[in-house]
Amino acid sequence: MNLDFKEFKRFEKQIILKKIGFSGQKKIKKAKILIVGLGGLGCPLVSYLAASGIGNICIVDHDKVELGNLNRQILFNNGDLNKYKVLQAKKKVAQIYKNIKIKTLKSKVNSRNIKSIFKDFEIICDGTDNYETRYLINDFCKQNKKILVSAAISRFDGHLFKFNFKKKGPCYRCFMPEQPIEENNCETDGIFSPVAGIMGSIQANEVLKTILNLKNDLSSNMLIFNSLRMSLRKVKISIDKDCINKCKN
Ligand SMILES: [Zn+2]
Repeated sequence: MNLDFKEFKRFEKQIILKKIGFSGQKKIKKAKILIVGLGGLGCPLVSYLAASGIGNICIVDHDKVELGNLNRQILFNNGDLNKYKVLQAKKKVAQIYKNIKIKTLKSKVNSRNIKSIFKDFEIICDGTDNYETRYLINDFCKQNKKILVSAAISRFDGHLFKFNFKKKGPCYRCFMPEQPIEENNCETDGIFSPVAGIMGSIQANEVLKTILNLKNDLSSNMLIFNSLRMSLRKVKISIDKDCINKCKN
């Protein structure tokens, strides 16, 4: 796979970074990324991945754009209301960079379809807004040795996890074995708009670093951001010996 002159000009500011170079940009072009959820996290995430030159992106979401989404789902505007998020996002991504192959799926990931949706992807991004899907994606990625970059936002806070299940280590259930009784999500708790942008951007940061094999990554750690205190903490997740995904083996 080669880069032509136009591609060189477009990505010049990345290519001149020693840690990327031509070889790194080719890796980015060759990459295939799956994004589940096109909400407050998915919008900045897909925008940065597209702008960086990721060659193949698949987006999965079953929702239509609603007025209450527009404070944080920055790919969308009034003209997108009541239309499917994945279809509108595909048009916007084509405007960012038309050479990206973008596949859209108007579905909700469930235990029946997860295998066929995930099978062609090594790196999975979870930006969904409910625990049920979060656990399903975590368990599937663990069992099938995928790399999972997962983010969650609520009120003024954001969490980010990266699990490289090709290696031994903890999973999301090691951190939170059971779904909390009260479902906390942006529907019930509210969300401070820039937190979505910050966490979706950090998610893109981790995806690109994974593609580029850059060291000092977040594996087995979680990143906790609080926008009121302006604190960013990295916390180690220990393997739970009783984890149902048998993370200790
Ligand atoms: Zn586990």
